Amino acid sequence: MAATILDGTKLAGDIRAEVAAEVRSLAEAGVRPGLAVVLAGHNPASEIYVRGKVKACEEVGIFSEKHTPPDSATTAELLALIEHLNQRDDIDGILVQLPLPAQADSKRILMAVDPAKDVDGFHPMNVGFLSTQRPGLVPCTPAGVMEILKRSHIAVAGQEAVVVGRSDIVGKPVAMLLLNANATVTVCHSKTGDLPAVCRRADILVAAIGRAGMITRNFVKPGATVIDVGMNKVTDLAEFQRLFAGNARREETFRQKGSTLAGDVHPEVAEVAGALTPVPGGVGPLTIAMLMSNTVKAAKLRRGSRVPALAGK
Ligand code: NDP
Repeated sequence: MAATILDGTKLAGDIRAEVAAEVRSLAEAGVRPGLAVVLAGHNPASEIYVRGKVKACEEVGIFSEKHTPPDSATTAELLALIEHLNQRDDIDGILVQLPLPAQADSKRILMAVDPAKDVDGFHPMNVGFLSTQRPGLVPCTPAGVMEILKRSHIAVAGQEAVVVGRSDIVGKPVAMLLLNANATVTVCHSKTGDLPAVCRRADILVAAIGRAGMITRNFVKPGATVIDVGMNKVTDLAEFQRLFAGNARREETFRQKGSTLAGDVHPEVAEVAGALTPVPGGVGPLTIAMLMSNTVKAAKLRRGSRVPALAGK
């Protein structure tokens, strides 16, 4: 039987509607959550991502502003900007779009963001909060993975979960969230021996690798839930055919654009898995929805103690 396709676009729409309702109720308490996005230099892909984030803010009623230091911005200049944003009371979330220009010290700049405003959840203090199960800000894509599981009523507690990928922004926080939700978690990476056999243990398999269609059917236990975080641009014709031969809609886009977006999971997995997130339209839309949700969460965590009407919201 073909896998149930988990519709991330629909779930993200639900979350955005919930966030918009929260923003309206915060407005009654005199609070408008605010997000500052720092986009340093010119990077076409980053500019597209930032546009999407600013537009999503507008839709849910979050105040947003964009800061665009030039390509030549130094570490000191960027640190001064972050410090200014840290001090502003109307800004609840600060998002530093990566990559920064080469001369800027990214680690130092990310470390300078006030952890209470770190809506990306990358600051070591938020990483520590996550691993010790304290309230804090959780990275958006991993939080989105958990929302997909929760809202699709997929049991996590007591299940075998396997995460392929151990990056600080996806693999490790996903593994930590699954562990906190009482799954038995295995984390795999490029040095893992017999990866297909380890993956076949999974009731929940999360692929966050960055290799188009690497997870084929022999990696998947029949009936497993497969979450595909990968976003890979496929431009090579042979690679395209390995993944999408016979898919008329994909063939048409590939012919027109010369590329297509593919996940880390091969489409044939839909014949074995119980449930599967598509690419595009799976995890991707949740990432921006969780950024909106994190901004509202930051506003509540940060201002909650000072605005009595927010207590318990
Ligand atoms: P990284 O490159 O930082 O990490 C990739 C991980 O995959 C590493 O841990 C690496 O292992 C592991 N890996 C690489 N090759 C293999 C292999 N052959 N076998 C087993 N493990 C392997 O990537 P990210 O975590 O940043 O991103 C992963 C994917 O998710 C990318 O496609 C990215 O575009 C996508 N992404 C999607 C988002 C969304 O909103 N949907 C958001 C963020 C990312 P090792 O550590 O040993 O090198």
